[in-house]
Amino acid sequence: MHDRLILVTNDDGLWAPGLEVLARVAARFGRVVAVAPDRNRSAVSSSLSLHNILRLHDLGGDRYACDGTPVDCVLLGLRGGLLDRMPDWVLSGVNNGYNLGEDVFYSGTVAAAFEGSLNGIRSAAFSQAPEGSLDLAEPWIHRFLERWENLELPEGRVWNLNLPQGEPKGFRLTSQDHRAYHDKVERRLDPRGTPYYWIGGAVPAFELGAGSDAEAAQGGWISATPLRLDLACPELMARGEAFEATFNGGG
Ligand code: MN
Repeated sequence: MHDRLILVTNDDGLWAPGLEVLARVAARFGRVVAVAPDRNRSAVSSSLSLHNILRLHDLGGDRYACDGTPVDCVLLGLRGGLLDRMPDWVLSGVNNGYNLGEDVFYSGTVAAAFEGSLNGIRSAAFSQAPEGSLDLAEPWIHRFLERWENLELPEGRVWNLNLPQGEPKGFRLTSQDHRAYHDKVERRLDPRGTPYYWIGGAVPAFELGAGSDAEAAQGGWISATPLRLDLACPELMARGEAFEATFNGGG
């Protein structure tokens, strides 16, 4: 089973160590083509470059650096004429740092996997505890890729994997946790006295709900969350009558 075609990308940039490990593991399952940003493009979510051109640098050996976003990279990989057919898998990561809870909305790593899924391709995002050991992660990513075709996900879904710090205890099927606070914005002054702003900086804190991604990762497990792009709220969709009465009713 080495005839698979596998597109690998990330949001930390083509030269990130996490991408190298993911590409190395993936190569045991098929031909790997890596298309990734030429610099760190973390937290750009599903940004698409519609108003500027994109350049692709062919580095040889099925490696391409692109000056666009992670989603640009997936689109170029799928539709830019690099491959003679659609790939079987789109793999994104291994991101340096978790993508847990609502952080998946900001993540370029997760967005790249969703882009694969939107194009009908089996896709997964891999992230790891900040400064986690890629050596420890490698056999577990292998184990996941060896088996994930045995478990079908409905269309439009992706796997979001988060590997813990240290040796994983195994895989846990998890839900999405919640961030416990909002990012802080720091206002500083530049040398000319004009203010500038710096977002984030603090370590994210999570509620650690039972069965959640953050609880599993913190407990030393590999969190595996099946994510979907359909964000429509099921509770409200089930209340069509109340909606009608509120917005279309008389009075
Ligand atoms: Mn990143």
